[in-house]
Amino acid sequence: MNFDRNYKIVKTDWLPSRGIPYPDDIEIYVAPMTIRERRLLEGVSNAEYFRRLLDGVQIRGNQNFDKHKLLLADAQLIDLIRRIYTFEPDRKIAINNYRCNHCGQYNVSASFMFTDLELEDFGEGVFGKDKTFTDNDSGEEITVHTEGKEYKFADGTTVYATPMTVEDYVDLATKYISNENDPNTPNQLTKTYIAQFAYLIKKIEGREFFDDQGMREYLVEYIGALYKPADEEVMNAIEVDTTSILKPLKAKCPDCGKEVEVILNPWLRFQQ
Ligand SMILES: [Zn+2]
Repeated sequence: MNFDRNYKIVKTDWLPSRGIPYPDDIEIYVAPMTIRERRLLEGVSNAEYFRRLLDGVQIRGNQNFDKHKLLLADAQLIDLIRRIYTFEPDRKIAINNYRCNHCGQYNVSASFMFTDLELEDFGEGVFGKDKTFTDNDSGEEITVHTEGKEYKFADGTTVYATPMTVEDYVDLATKYISNENDPNTPNQLTKTYIAQFAYLIKKIEGREFFDDQGMREYLVEYIGALYKPADEEVMNAIEVDTTSILKPLKAKCPDCGKEVEVILNPWLRFQQ
């Protein structure tokens, strides 16, 4: 029996990041989703979803690049491309039980073609990237991580932010998103909203803390306690620059008849 998975290339310039944060020589391949994978992805937690999603993704060309360092937005597009390869391109993405922002009912259903989807651009200069250079004195090769984009809060605190990777998102979802609660409750949305900044902000006052949980918790407290309108503007700018969400799609509420913008975010599942 032949279990060849029939991998197909995903060109980096198709991705929201256009491949800018990655080494130049990586090639991304995806396998169509098997029946087993599709069943496993139904109803799993947010963290587990992206962990499993990468099982069918292969990086070729550069063996040192860890696929968990793919940006979340890129991984989401890769997810869609896998589904396009898996199902016929004329199949639709179905969304059910979406909340109507006019009457509040969770009754909106809609279905979209893959070709209806459009992604927003990232902000300029926002990518952190590993850069390798040769040290003049020692002659050694040194790799540094560039910071991303600089922002300043009203109290003078300088931070650098870059988009979230799959690895970051899995950690965020594991630590800050409870799967027992409805992800749409105000409490959970607030928690998720604040916690995401602890993953988007990679450096504060010149100190890097990629995997420092203590600094993450500090940031969650710091962000949550901000109250000046100027700080809110900074947070909005960070969020807009570091995310490349799918543009909202239009649907109609069956209860009130009004038009609803369906926002497809990482916490919404795609179903074929
Ligand atoms: Zn409605």
